[in-house]
Amino acid sequence: MDSPPLSVGFVMVHTSPLDVPGTKDAGGMNVVVSAQADALARAGHRVHIYTRRSDESSPERVELPSGVTVVHLDAGPARLLAKGEHEGVIAEFERALAAELASEPTQILHAEHWFSGIAALEPARAAGIPLVQSYHSIAAAPETPLTEGERPESPGRLAGERLLAHEVDLVIAVSEAERHTVLDRFGADPARVRVVPLGVDTELFHPVLGGESDEQRDWLEHGGRPEVLVVGRLHPLKGFDLAIEAVAAIPEDSRPVLRIVGAPPPDGDDHARELHEAVARHGMIATTAFDGALRRGELAERIRRATILLIPSHTETFGLVALEASASGIPVIARDTGGLREAVLNGETGVLVSGDDPADWAGAIEKLLADPELLASMGAKAREHALSTSWESSAEHLLEAYRALLASR
Ligand code: UDP
Repeated sequence: MDSPPLSVGFVMVHTSPLDVPGTKDAGGMNVVVSAQADALARAGHRVHIYTRRSDESSPERVELPSGVTVVHLDAGPARLLAKGEHEGVIAEFERALAAELASEPTQILHAEHWFSGIAALEPARAAGIPLVQSYHSIAAAPETPLTEGERPESPGRLAGERLLAHEVDLVIAVSEAERHTVLDRFGADPARVRVVPLGVDTELFHPVLGGESDEQRDWLEHGGRPEVLVVGRLHPLKGFDLAIEAVAAIPEDSRPVLRIVGAPPPDGDDHARELHEAVARHGMIATTAFDGALRRGELAERIRRATILLIPSHTETFGLVALEASASGIPVIARDTGGLREAVLNGETGVLVSGDDPADWAGAIEKLLADPELLASMGAKAREHALSTSWESSAEHLLEAYRALLASR
């Protein structure tokens, strides 16, 4: 390391880096923060992640193998809260964080999601520490209706997000699309909004060794069904209902298996039930699998055995699973929106689809399934694209942003 190591505190109020992504409210943000924090710690920096204690049995501090320290702060009841309930515990978290910072010299505070930004704002100011903000997702603007599938998360969200865009020292966006949203919607200073590209673990997510899985051989050589996979928390925003409708629109004799990986968030049981009911209504129980949430290794195995990954999400600031599928050599069919336009190279690593008509999505699936050569060439291109990214280079970009910010003060 050329420059001296930094001391960085990540603040992540509503979900823990120890949670399994795809369960509770853990998703892309957990993967991104854990991967960047691990890469920074492995490069010799001192890294803490401050999160809320949501379980009585959590120890105060947990040392991760990378050297990152996870600190559980008491704020509100020591049980899982629905996302919207966290607004009520921000003030308590803020006090606990301020007390912690009094004994832990910190050069950069990096808040993840707006709850964390609000909780970190005063403690950062009081201690003279620059505050960096990542939103990960941004609420729908009040003048436009909520995006389909989006529930109002909590009353203070939009005002909180807007305030942070003006008060923090730097906003880090995960995509150009998110950067534009921060600039256009909140009127933030462009010099203080920077994109840090995401990475993917190309050792964990890799194509099937030997090039062809048993499932693929079964499909191509023995008349079995190909597999369309969707991955994510079972939240209406993910558009898994559209995935079911799209697969249902494909004639039964050529219909692929639909595999759904992920668990409902704390308040998401009703939606999970609706998805099961839709599968039953379309007579697809025998050709649909609900796997629940999978740990990283198992998930990587599932992705490389799939034929296509579908991302019908109504909004996505990035869509990390697109990059994970690419690294696995699997083409992606995704909605033509937000960060998915950057995560998927249309016509090269996958296909972008607009709108909510299941027939259009079914058409895109059928077109790819009808052309195994195209599937294979897109898969190869996708892997190549993923190999050009890594969490180490993502962490280096982050570090460069931190150092530029420190130098400017
Ligand atoms: N994920 C996982 N296991 C699951 C479901 C999801 O590890 O059962 C991971 C997935 O691989 C990805 C993240 O959770 O890394 C979801 O990120 P994405 O950006 O796609 O969606 P978000 O959760 O941020 O809305």
